[in-house]
Amino acid sequence: MHNKVVIIGSGPAGLTAALYAARANLEPLVVRGLQPGGLIATTAEVENYPGFVEGIGGFELADNMEKQAARFGARFLDTLVTRVDAGQRPFVLTTDDGQQLTADTLIVSTGASPRKLGVPGEERLANRGVSYCATCDGFFFRGKKVVVVGGGNSALDEGLFLTRYVSELIIVHRRDALRADPILQERAFSNEKIRFIWDSTVEEILGEDRVSAVRIRNLKTGETSELAADGVFPYIGHVPNTKLFEGILTLDAGGYIVTDGRQRTNVLGIFAAGDVVDHIYRQAITAAGEGCKAAMEATWYLAEQEHAARKAAQAESVSS
Ligand code: NAP
Repeated sequence: MHNKVVIIGSGPAGLTAALYAARANLEPLVVRGLQPGGLIATTAEVENYPGFVEGIGGFELADNMEKQAARFGARFLDTLVTRVDAGQRPFVLTTDDGQQLTADTLIVSTGASPRKLGVPGEERLANRGVSYCATCDGFFFRGKKVVVVGGGNSALDEGLFLTRYVSELIIVHRRDALRADPILQERAFSNEKIRFIWDSTVEEILGEDRVSAVRIRNLKTGETSELAADGVFPYIGHVPNTKLFEGILTLDAGGYIVTDGRQRTNVLGIFAAGDVVDHIYRQAITAAGEGCKAAMEATWYLAEQEHAARKAAQAESVSS
């Protein structure tokens, strides 16, 4: 299947790129990937996306973006890209269901995934009390006691969301000051269900078939203690989804794709946008902005290529 534009990933960056590329009549193909709608689709309430006075649910926001792009001709494929061959033109992509796609341009918007704690018990008890998505799983913790790890916006935002369900929520943070925005800090400090354990990390998640407790280490005293809990939600940042592009695109020390100010990567015709590039702002609105830029750059790049091909054909017909 040949395409002028293939967009890998379907978060705000990919879906905005799809909207702009579709409106440029390029009929972009969006490969949705593992997490349709991206991380924003797993966020309960988005209060800072401009245009929504009362906020909007993350799933609804992503769904609206997709429908808007589809209205102008964007196409969607529910699969994963498992291999990219950028050494030939057009680029060749292989998917996990065995399809081969070709593309004149690629927009990489594969986002980032929640960073794991990397402690014993985390993997074994995943989906058995360990969750990275409060919006998806909060309901299952009605009346229970849960631990949230981290001190950033995600920890507090998702923690506050969880208080709709849980009886008690303990936020374990490795320092004694939060990184989260003041407005979230105020809400968390005044929430009766939330208490904090400072200067501490979770060093083991305990339980037979389900989470029953966590082992906590106080980083100042070195003391360890057990805290009974029915669930653990780690919110300690993200890692970019760039494995597919190792050896193809230039990545920085953190594994993020390096782009110039115009979303161009080191490979001509490959652009990147959103959390896979940005480890500073990481907002839905900045991702959407980068998606817009990437699609406009791809449009201009294709127009230049077509123009060059036309001129070459004209020159050849004159000389023959
Ligand atoms: P983040 O801002 O990077 O915060 C990660 C938190 O986890 C920090 O408090 C960090 O501690 C802690 N941490 C990191 N590694 C750890 C480890 N190995 N063990 C224990 N704790 C660890 O990540 P985020 O909260 O996911 O937010 C990511 C981006 O999304 C941010 O730009 C944020 O503003 C944005 N966001 C915005 C909203 C909103 O606007 N409402 C909501 C969610 C996310 P230290 O503080 O000590 O570094």
